Amino acid sequence: MRTVYVNGDYLPETEAKVSIFDRGFLMADGVYEVTSVLDGKLIDFDGHAVRLQRSLDELDMANPISKEDLLEVHRELVRLNGIEEGMIYLQITRGAPSDRDFAFPDPETPQTIVLFTQNKPGLADNPAAKKGMKVISIEDIRWGRRDIKTVQLLYPSMGKMMAKKAGVDDAWMVQDGFVTEGTSNNAYIVKGNKIITREASPDILKGITRTAVLRFAQEAQMEVEERNFTIEEAREADEAFITSASTFVMPVVEIDGVALGDGTPGHVAPRLREIYLDESRKAAV
Ligand code: PMP
Repeated sequence: MRTVYVNGDYLPETEAKVSIFDRGFLMADGVYEVTSVLDGKLIDFDGHAVRLQRSLDELDMANPISKEDLLEVHRELVRLNGIEEGMIYLQITRGAPSDRDFAFPDPETPQTIVLFTQNKPGLADNPAAKKGMKVISIEDIRWGRRDIKTVQLLYPSMGKMMAKKAGVDDAWMVQDGFVTEGTSNNAYIVKGNKIITREASPDILKGITRTAVLRFAQEAQMEVEERNFTIEEAREADEAFITSASTFVMPVVEIDGVALGDGTPGHVAPRLREIYLDESRKAAV
């Protein structure tokens, strides 16, 4: 059984409880982060802590835990649960006032903070990375502040189900003809040697993996262009891939039933995956 963290306590998962009045539960009034673990160490903890603070600030929510303590809780959960490869999920909500109300509660209301581990042996050596994944495109009908990492994940969840029904792995969301991102990842296409991805804005979540991968690509003298691209341009790309904390860099070999290039992962994505895993392991804490 997992040991999880809730509001200062380490408890067996079956004993961890949150109020029915919690604003995360009633209003999706909460933010989250997912940090991956490789070799029992945290990948880019700092990036996740910085984005967490930004999400909280944008929602006028206090931060109930210092960065040092947060790192300690992450490490303790890794240790207690013996995680070598996997993820740590963190969620902070505006807490549980005494009743349901649209207005934010008194700022003195204690917030809720929950962390738990997800054990995923073989996360880095994922066979899916050799095969590549297939995606369909769907309309992006999410709210306008996708740069804030809130727990309001119903549409991404529905998008995953649309993909599943279509017999593919994920969906790329499209707004006004342009790809925004995947349901839980950032989207990229490759033309020649150029890596193209939508620029950071309130339209997408600025992935921690995205920031790292774009930096590694530039350091490896690869050309990077941050601009909008249409779903048609994507279907005609030489290669495509996604990035996220739990998938790292994952090649995309088919969009809406159209094979990209020769229908294999190509060169750029597998190379970036290798660099990302190597460099992230070196910098893990
Ligand atoms: N976009 C969305 C919508 C996401 O949910 C995620 C992952 N949570 C990402 C991008 C990738 O972000 P990261 O690299 O920080 O995991």
